Amino acid sequence: MFEKLYSPVEKLKLAAFNNLFVKREDLIDPYISGNKWRKLKYILAKAEAEHKNHLITFGGAYSNHLVATAAAASRSGLKSTAFVRGEKVTNEMLLLCKLFGMDLIFTERESYKDKFALFEKHFKFDVNAYFIDEGGASTEAVTGCSEIVDELTDVYDHIFCAAGTGTTAAGLLDGIVKNNLKTKLHVIPVLKNGNFIKAEIVKYVPNTENLILHTDYHFGGYAKTTPELFKFIKDFTANTGLLIDPVYTAKMFYAVFDLQRNKTIKSDDKILAIHTGGLLGIFGMKDKF
Ligand SMILES: *Cc1c(COP(=O)(O)O)cnc(C)c1O
Repeated sequence: MFEKLYSPVEKLKLAAFNNLFVKREDLIDPYISGNKWRKLKYILAKAEAEHKNHLITFGGAYSNHLVATAAAASRSGLKSTAFVRGEKVTNEMLLLCKLFGMDLIFTERESYKDKFALFEKHFKFDVNAYFIDEGGASTEAVTGCSEIVDELTDVYDHIFCAAGTGTTAAGLLDGIVKNNLKTKLHVIPVLKNGNFIKAEIVKYVPNTENLILHTDYHFGGYAKTTPELFKFIKDFTANTGLLIDPVYTAKMFYAVFDLQRNKTIKSDDKILAIHTGGLLGIFGMKDKF
């Protein structure tokens, strides 16, 4: 779909860092943001190879994955339907989904749990329907995300990324292993009790020698925030000109700053933070700034 991806690496000019770089996955597209395109790339290719023209997927009412799938489907000439967790609501994200032509099926939380059953119930007889798991989690998604590392032209001591399902992290680790790099991958789960992310990553990439999980930067849990996190976002954006979102990338950048401050990371080490996008998430929390 994208002839040429635009995801440059930029150096951040900050007093506390000599060598902090950002891979601007957020610039790939405003709606098919960052890692969501990486995850969809080979899923779309597979759907098209199987001649499926109707993507069926799943997500919460503020899901970046739903917007990305809706936008990617419309630009590829495909139909899309999403099962949205919970009661019927309207918000900026779902508005975009609708504009991109996605059908929304609001689904109460109990039946939402069994995604394949929902797919079977509604689309068993639709030969064009193609199942995409919540967040796009799949081996195709891991392959797509590993290409982030393949594209790098410099070598880094540390790569940082935020994790929800861990699929993006698995792809980055896969890229590090495949390219024989010594780079450490620092993963910041944005949910509470984020240790489960390791098991998710191991499903795809058994060699976790270079993996470091930092489970203390969830700020209370998924989509939970604190005044300190909002202060960080405001300072960071004012000082760098980069927008970050409260759900994923702010927690990741907060961790980079904190680990550098407490000397876990040396100030001369070469760091690459993956800006995975998700900026529409700002609008879901606009009253908190
Ligand atoms: C979805 C998302 C993530 C998490 O990706 P996983 O592969 O689920 O771990 C990280 N950052 C942003 C901006 C996202 O939208």
